[in-house]
Amino acid sequence: MTQAREKKVNSLDGATFDVLVIGGGATGLGTAVNAATRGFSTLVLEQNDYAKGTSSRSTKILHGGVRYLAQGNIKLVHEALKEKLINYENAPHLARSMDFVIPCENFFKQMFYASGMIAYDALAGFPKKYLSKIVNHKTLNAELPEVAEKHKDLGVIYNDGQFDDARMAFALVRTLEDNKGVAVNYIKVVEFIKEGTKIVGVKALDKRTNKVITIKAKCIFNATGIYSDEIIKLDKGEHEGTVTLAQGIHIVVKGDVYSSQKAMLIPKTTDGRVLFFIPWYDKVIIGTTDTKVSTVLDDPIPLKEEIDLVINNANNYLSRPIQQEDITSVYAGIRPLMKATSSTKKISREEHIDIADSGLISVVGGKWTTYRHMGERLVNFAIAKGKLPQKESQTKHLKLHGYLPEDKAHAIPLALRFYGSELSKIKDMQGFNNNLHADLPINEAQVRYAMEFEQALTLDDVLARRTRCLFINAAACIEIADTAAKIMQEFLGFDDKWRKAEVEDFTKIAKKYLISSYW
Ligand SMILES: Cc1cc2nc3c(=O)[nH]c(=O)nc-3n(C[C@H](O)[C@H](O)[C@H](O)COP(=O)(O)OP(=O)(O)OC[C@H]3O[C@@H](n4cnc5c(N)ncnc54)[C@H](O)[C@@H]3O)c2cc1C
Repeated sequence: MTQAREKKVNSLDGATFDVLVIGGGATGLGTAVNAATRGFSTLVLEQNDYAKGTSSRSTKILHGGVRYLAQGNIKLVHEALKEKLINYENAPHLARSMDFVIPCENFFKQMFYASGMIAYDALAGFPKKYLSKIVNHKTLNAELPEVAEKHKDLGVIYNDGQFDDARMAFALVRTLEDNKGVAVNYIKVVEFIKEGTKIVGVKALDKRTNKVITIKAKCIFNATGIYSDEIIKLDKGEHEGTVTLAQGIHIVVKGDVYSSQKAMLIPKTTDGRVLFFIPWYDKVIIGTTDTKVSTVLDDPIPLKEEIDLVINNANNYLSRPIQQEDITSVYAGIRPLMKATSSTKKISREEHIDIADSGLISVVGGKWTTYRHMGERLVNFAIAKGKLPQKESQTKHLKLHGYLPEDKAHAIPLALRFYGSELSKIKDMQGFNNNLHADLPINEAQVRYAMEFEQALTLDDVLARRTRCLFINAAACIEIADTAAKIMQEFLGFDDKWRKAEVEDFTKIAKKYLISSYW
């Protein structure tokens, strides 16, 4: 497996592509799929693992954004609502519709939110299946058994979507490969190659072998999110910085804290934000926060005050307060937002596209929900700037790798649904019936599949993103680290020293997901 990777990396050295995308998160992968499906030869280089950054740490909702509606950002909401439906259509194995309940304090608040949701439905084109409605105590009592009585008098139910962010990233990597594109992880762009003032290629460091390779490309996209300013500095030498960093954290709690299959939106937290309860596998994600931070980290660290804020606001709505043993994981992600002087919660989530004198195209901002449209816009932008010849976008109806029609996809149990049509292959692999832990959705075959077909190289790759175990139950992950590493060791042909180091590295990462590290 590592030999195959080495061969792949060697074949890139000295190669030329139409499009080179720096960054394997939502934005970079969406752009690469758009370029490759138009027929451009396309390469993605990712310095860590795909979606290791912001793109595996979202709230995991596909949404227009009720909050952005309240801010009057109609264009963003309209676009995102359209994209939400496209996600349902093109990736039913990864995305599903979900009802969201807003508990309302009184009749006036109910009418206020109901009218907002009518506008939301209107912007979505009044889709019959997903219209919002007002509900009374009887419905709320049945739908939200663990919510405190005082919040169950009146409510509004609207519809948005729920998805698995990191798994969507792998579906995009595979879709890219299906369309003759290439993606490699653990390759960091370290230098631009220029002819005169124009960028014509990059030097990139293979972090696994320390080898530096040279690649040329007609069009280079900087889709590096929170690292965007670093790449612009590589180009310009000096750069003031255009990105503001806003951290958001989530706690993941056991399903019995909140057993509803409907999500809940708390409309106003003590810091004036919204707070979501999102059913996710057999757990519930509660978040998020919006905290200005100054340091870019590969594994951002939740702050104690952010955890307190989430727990205290969640507890205001629950009849039984959350205990430490209810929390199985905690994670933080950093939003790359355009610099502004106002507080981060008011900064627009729309993406900003820019082209430098060198020809480097940079993008900052955006949402997972709109990744497809963003990719389309970026490639259109490159065409308009003369970097690429005119070719039409093909992604509106492009089914993502693993696609199954909705009825077939949704018949697969949630824990394995994200594989879609690939599941039959995994079922035939060694160890499908060997579950690694009673509290985790992972078997031996999934570990093997991650290495053979999804470029997993580390234990963190397998447990945090190819499967979502680290986000589901961090303590259980630490318990299976050695067992999973043994499967990897055997498959990759490595020695015991490798395994021990891998377990040690992973345990260090996993401890950051344990609530006991903070609370
Ligand atoms: C707390 C939180 C909650 C969110 N919730 C939602 C939600 O519910 N729904 C939604 O639609 N959106 C949500 N978002 C937004 C969404 O997650 C982001 O918009 C999206 O993930 C950003 O993706 P990206 O590709 O731009 O950045 P990233 O995912 O950070 O990807 C950039 C990549 O570039 C790589 N890179 C950097 N430098 C180099 C280099 N030199 N060489 C090679 N690679 C490099 C990085 O390693 C990284 O993987 C949320 C964001 C946060 C923080």
